[in-house]
Amino acid sequence: MTTIDVLDRPALVLNKHWVAIQTTTVKEAIGLVAKGAARIIEPESFVAHDLETWNDVSRAKAKFGGAVIRSARLELAPPEVILLTGYEGMGERVVVFSRRNLFKRDRFTCQYCGSQPGPEELTIDHVAPRSRGGVSSWENCVLACVACNKRKADRSPAESGLALRKTPRKPSWRSLARIEPRIRRESWDQFLSRAYWEIELEE
Ligand SMILES: [Zn+2]
Repeated sequence: MTTIDVLDRPALVLNKHWVAIQTTTVKEAIGLVAKGAARIIEPESFVAHDLETWNDVSRAKAKFGGAVIRSARLELAPPEVILLTGYEGMGERVVVFSRRNLFKRDRFTCQYCGSQPGPEELTIDHVAPRSRGGVSSWENCVLACVACNKRKADRSPAESGLALRKTPRKPSWRSLARIEPRIRRESWDQFLSRAYWEIELEE
């Protein structure tokens, strides 16, 4: 694994009350610690470190192998959890209206016929067509498979004989819901409740 990959690895961010609020990259995490805005948490002991003491821990850990980020002065194991020292908020709760989040809300499923043909075969459909003033919003955009999109064309669902499976709404995920299982680290488990992971898989 190259250094670049290591810097892009995910790190969990806790607010000052040790509540997990979001994820960041190892690179950003180290930047925050260097600025004094955060501490690196040693997941095994919950000890909070600045770069100097983390350097000592990392050198000890390095004896057992694992990735290391080297600078002229420091030799750091990639942090997996950081604690913000001055922030007690819960992070950004607004879900950005983006292609990615729309796919996530609609679960890669055509909202008309329920098919799941894969991301390449899904399009973003404006329920009220743009040609009639339909806007790009959470409430007016849904995923549609190519066939349904073609059938609907520039018409309303009713006009084209299609029915939405559910009313499109703005999702209300907490920012943590953006953590994808594939980036999750084992060391995060103790900071994230089991309930949280189950919630994400349910409707
Ligand atoms: Zn369809």
